[in-house]
Amino acid sequence: MSKIIVLIGAPGAGKGTQARLLEEKRGIPQISTGDMFREMKKADTPLAREVQETMAAGNLISDDLTYKIVKERTARADCQNDYILDGYPRTAVQAAQLEDLASEQNKTIQAIEIDVPRAELLKRLTGRRSCSVCGEIYNIYSKPPKQDNVCDFHPETTLTHRADDNEESVGTRLANYDEQTKPLLEYYEKSGRLEKIDGTRELQQIYADLDKLI
Ligand code: AMP
Repeated sequence: MSKIIVLIGAPGAGKGTQARLLEEKRGIPQISTGDMFREMKKADTPLAREVQETMAAGNLISDDLTYKIVKERTARADCQNDYILDGYPRTAVQAAQLEDLASEQNKTIQAIEIDVPRAELLKRLTGRRSCSVCGEIYNIYSKPPKQDNVCDFHPETTLTHRADDNEESVGTRLANYDEQTKPLLEYYEKSGRLEKIDGTRELQQIYADLDKLI
């Protein structure tokens, strides 16, 4: 039976970086709701503007809209076997919706927590930069690009700092994580589907742990 790998961790814990590595090295598709919403907000429609405002403030998009995009995306052929959910589910309602989706798709759920202490998260979020072309994630402190402020793969592209990585939105996102997403750890733990990884180590060490678990 194939599985849905759910990466859970606070903003800045490294879910995106690790999910991208898993996709690159193991060919397991990375489904990032954050990336899909960032793509969606570029359109010029009332819904896109609403998504943009919600994200910029660090708030969560509605459960139903989020479920819709996850369901649509995972219906594609590349998700027939295992796939990774990066940033989903984030609420109890989403976790329940994912149970339905998993049974419809005949898959099991494996949840993995990437654990990083709060002080470290703040530093990571303020130092985070990314390439708007390929999505590569850098950090000015821990994973700088070869050349200041430009992507290693797209030297013509200046790196961007996410609009929601400012101090105020970061506070809201961390509070939302504590209130809405953290309880999901217990939910998966109780059903014996949770594993935990120490996310404070070197990127490659974290990846090696993940690789073994999956
Ligand atoms: P991320 O890139 O995972 O940090 O997500 C960026 C933003 O996208 C979040 O702060 C939310 O506004 C929105 N978002 C991403 N995933 C979800 C989700 N599962 N539920 C609701 N909103 C989400």
